Amino acid sequence: MKEFFDRLKCKECGRSYPKEAVHVCEFDFGPLEATYHYHKIKKYVSRQMIESGPDSMWRYEPFLPLEEEPTVGLHTGMTPLLAAKRLAKILGIKELYIKNDTVNFPTLSFKDRVVSVALSRAKELHYEVVSCASTGNLANSLAAHAAANGLKSYVLIPADLEPAKVIGSLVYNTRVIGIKGSYDKVNRLCSEIAGKYRWAFVNVNFRPYYAEGSKTMGFEILEQMGWKIPDHTVICMASGSLLTKIDKAYQEAILCGLVEEKPYAIHGAQASGCNPITAAFKKGTDLIRPIANPNTIAKSLAIGTPADGYYAIQTIRRTGGYAEDVTDQEIIEGIKILAETEGVFAETAGGVTVGCAKKLIQKGYIPQESQVVLCITGNGLKTAEVLKDHLNPIDVIEPHIQDFDKIVDFEK
Ligand SMILES: *Cc1c(COP(=O)(O)O)cnc(C)c1O
Ligand SMILES: [Zn+2]
Repeated sequence: MKEFFDRLKCKECGRSYPKEAVHVCEFDFGPLEATYHYHKIKKYVSRQMIESGPDSMWRYEPFLPLEEEPTVGLHTGMTPLLAAKRLAKILGIKELYIKNDTVNFPTLSFKDRVVSVALSRAKELHYEVVSCASTGNLANSLAAHAAANGLKSYVLIPADLEPAKVIGSLVYNTRVIGIKGSYDKVNRLCSEIAGKYRWAFVNVNFRPYYAEGSKTMGFEILEQMGWKIPDHTVICMASGSLLTKIDKAYQEAILCGLVEEKPYAIHGAQASGCNPITAAFKKGTDLIRPIANPNTIAKSLAIGTPADGYYAIQTIRRTGGYAEDVTDQEIIEGIKILAETEGVFAETAGGVTVGCAKKLIQKGYIPQESQVVLCITGNGLKTAEVLKDHLNPIDVIEPHIQDFDKIVDFEK
């Protein structure tokens, strides 16, 4: 909101920048971040006001970097927080919750949140073409939101993405450009294009606006927990942005009196086949070594040079969390256990979160007597092919009752 959104500020040197399509500091190349007049927000917001707001992420509009009313993604967010009692029992945790963005609108991943903010802002700044560098979900969301708002869109992706993610962009009649190479190559090309064309690249020149959208997942968790910060939050990481922004939401909620301050831990999860952030964390260094050739079924998390990796490590350390990674086999087990116990079909990134949570509990980084939220960020139908050789086959029978009787396991 105009009266609350202050400016863009360099995360490194603190220099101020105008609220335009800029994302890096000219002096030290630090990332720019939106800042707010918190004393004004604090006077304005209350739990009750938020609870009676729209049934979407936009009930948190005072904390988002727009100057006018939002126009994109008015039905995005406010996804369910499920009490996962059956999974809790198996993992040996007292209280376990699933923040279920597999059912986010319109494209079944948490990316619908970030695109809603970035494109609302792009419209405010009169951009007509929108674009992104994507590992799949961002492309789906950008294409859908652009279609629904009459914006022209181009999405750039690694050429070898899952078929459902490619179709899930093409259906909106966007231009899909497949790049021969990893996500880092896609991203570098997008930076070059952004320097040449006046386009809104949601995660390049609009990244400060885009990234703030992730906070809504954090705010919703707090509200749905009954305005309490959970002891532990487990979050999967690609660039590391979502993790840092859930923490930012918790901090802002404390600052503005929506929740009481208390200790909490933020844990990061990655796939072992692309683990630049967890590897650096485990080594005890801030120095992230890029992964040149990511090799994991969790393609949505396969970013070898994570833009916010450094900040993610700081957040995890500051809160007393831990960072863990899992193999492809463990990712598949994570997907299956979540589906079998809670009826939630997550994509590979969700398998990463569940698999890492299991390890964090086993290793004692998450104590059994605690309250845990798992952020499940994308839908399993988008990466269904990874399960092909890991499920029971179907029983095919003749349409006769005798044949049916033969395959039944239960007593009549
Ligand atoms: C993009 C993405 C993430 C994490 O994104 P960050 O770059 O770390 O903010 C997590 N899960 C899914 C399914 C994603 O598509
Ligand atoms: Zn700077």
